[in-house]
Amino acid sequence: MRLRFALVALTPLLVGLVAHAAMAAGREARIENAPRGGQKTARSGDTRPAAERYFDAEFLRRSEAYNRGKVVYALNARAIRWAAYAMLLLGPLLPAVSKRLTRRFTRSSATRVFFLAWVVLAVTFAAVLPVAFASGYLQEHRYELSHQSLGGWLGDAAKGLGIWGAAFSLLTVLYFQLRQRMPRAGWAALAGVAIVVVVAATFAYPLVVDPLFNRYRPLRDPELRKDLTEMARAEGILLDRILVMEASAKTVRENAYFTGLGRTKRVVLWDNLLENASPAEVRQVFAHELGHWSRGHIVRGLALSIAAIPLLCWFLWTAHGRLARVRRLGLEGPEDPLGIPLLWLLLSVSLFAADPVSNAISRAMEREADGVALELTGDAQTFIDYERRSSVVNLGWVDPPAVWKGLFWTHPTTLERIRMAEEWRSRRAG
Ligand SMILES: [Zn+2]
Repeated sequence: MRLRFALVALTPLLVGLVAHAAMAAGREARIENAPRGGQKTARSGDTRPAAERYFDAEFLRRSEAYNRGKVVYALNARAIRWAAYAMLLLGPLLPAVSKRLTRRFTRSSATRVFFLAWVVLAVTFAAVLPVAFASGYLQEHRYELSHQSLGGWLGDAAKGLGIWGAAFSLLTVLYFQLRQRMPRAGWAALAGVAIVVVVAATFAYPLVVDPLFNRYRPLRDPELRKDLTEMARAEGILLDRILVMEASAKTVRENAYFTGLGRTKRVVLWDNLLENASPAEVRQVFAHELGHWSRGHIVRGLALSIAAIPLLCWFLWTAHGRLARVRRLGLEGPEDPLGIPLLWLLLSVSLFAADPVSNAISRAMEREADGVALELTGDAQTFIDYERRSSVVNLGWVDPPAVWKGLFWTHPTTLERIRMAEEWRSRRAG
């Protein structure tokens, strides 16, 4: 019986790999050695498709090939992760490890859960690593977006595993403790703790986690600093933290972001942006981040998470509780820690299913921040110029198919942003 389940578990993996091979073969033929061309001169009265009015054909081909590859890798990583969970749930590895642990730690079920959680983490990490490497390292180097060393990339992956692993394993220990002690209302207690963890993480992330991956320094340029601080004041924000992230150590990409909560709030500009963008473009990007700040996007996002967490915990508690009693899965019930892969599979599938919703909310907030940027700078042309230049630098897919946009895009597409700025300009002119 177990064997049949293992075969079922392998199916998504095989489908993923076949799809991958097919897409990769198609892609090979189209990449060649495309130059880093890019923007086109847009003429008025032009009837070509929007993408071709703003970008040259070579760039569009190259960015589509790159991004299609990334999408396939992301889907594969998910399929492999789910297949690994299914195999750990149905295969002999976890029961064998558990038997050994029981001999050694008979008294503490919490310790056993902790170690089993790390076995599941290590196995899934190893299973997904080849695809993560192909996507995050090989693909990035091949398209000349990254110049991070292999050691640096592996170090980042290990740090990510350590941080997420610590959080996941401890929450999993809590879950199984609650299963034993509060079989009915445990999900509510779990939700309470998860909310505290999410709020604390939002506050502490810029102080504790970000510096593990990148170096930061204060914005030095006094003139730019003064200019940006004044713009913030005009938006009613007293801004004391504008930081520069030394992204150029790893990548050629340009970006900026807004992060933190309360005293850890900050706007972060990537050094590549300051290096390459015009002062007007930097103002434009900064104004967008101010838009996130002034419209309370972090707090609103947090409030949505706080509302969603009890729902998710209740669903996991109920679904895992029912499935863990299905005989064929070979578990002794919801308290059985051999059900960790089942629990994490349910979590991963739920989050994947929720992605289109959270992405749509994120895109709405990004549109709002774009609106603030246009109002603050009054400069639609720089907005459009920056969208075009940064798409070329970052190899952005300017007009992805709707299904990929729904699943993966947290920002409006480049063409949507350009269209928005054009409309803003004509509204203002008319
Ligand atoms: Zn944004």
